[in-house]
Amino acid sequence: MSIKENIEKIEKNITLAAQKSGRKREDILLLAVTKTVEIERMEEAKQLGLTQFGENKPQEISRKYPLIDGVKWHQIGHLQTNKVKNVIDKVCLIHSVDSLKLGNEISKRAQALGIVSNVLVEVNIARDEAKHGVDPNETVTIVTQLSKLPSICVKGLMTVAPYTPDPEENRKYFREMYKLYIDIGAKKYDNVSMEYLSMGMTNDYIVAIEEGANIVRIGTGIFGQRDYTKIG
Ligand SMILES: *Cc1c(COP(=O)(O)O)cnc(C)c1O
Repeated sequence: MSIKENIEKIEKNITLAAQKSGRKREDILLLAVTKTVEIERMEEAKQLGLTQFGENKPQEISRKYPLIDGVKWHQIGHLQTNKVKNVIDKVCLIHSVDSLKLGNEISKRAQALGIVSNVLVEVNIARDEAKHGVDPNETVTIVTQLSKLPSICVKGLMTVAPYTPDPEENRKYFREMYKLYIDIGAKKYDNVSMEYLSMGMTNDYIVAIEEGANIVRIGTGIFGQRDYTKIG
């Protein structure tokens, strides 16, 4: 299928899932995940209306950033402290903050540039040893610690659910994430606004939206299987 057909199919699914959870299509951001996707195909997606792109690697954002105009970038993959400086002035949202150390570095770099960096806290909702993110029980603590840093604004939560052939298996995790998101929002901490709940990928975005996601991160579903032999 073409990128156009893929997007049309995803758009229909998003609209339906949003309705099921009492929301509208425009309440959900479809973030196009463009790791290993070349600029020509990103341009094609942009022409089809997708203008927000998510990348895993800071170096890929740095490389592509000057090559395409009028789009927004999101850092969605794990971010090492020493790479913060490469993306801090390029991304509108960092989805993957999972330590105070990383938060400190982001705040320091943002402050030096006179900007405020918007971040999500990544939660390891399935407590999967192979995944990044904070333990669900430690989420409130890290959110409040981050909220005290001068040049960071905590805008919500993110998770990468386990890969499973049956997305229904992740419903319980998405539900837990939504509960955390609502509970933390209800506390009304200074400098914390639970605006975004980033969860759901190609395999499970429908279930994620049904359970309250308002950002879904989709790569394969839009661009097809990634070819890792092309880009290192
Ligand atoms: C690659 C990636 C995605 C998109 O995964 P697909 O299965 O290709 O849709 C979403 N989020 C993160 C953090 C990723 O690394």
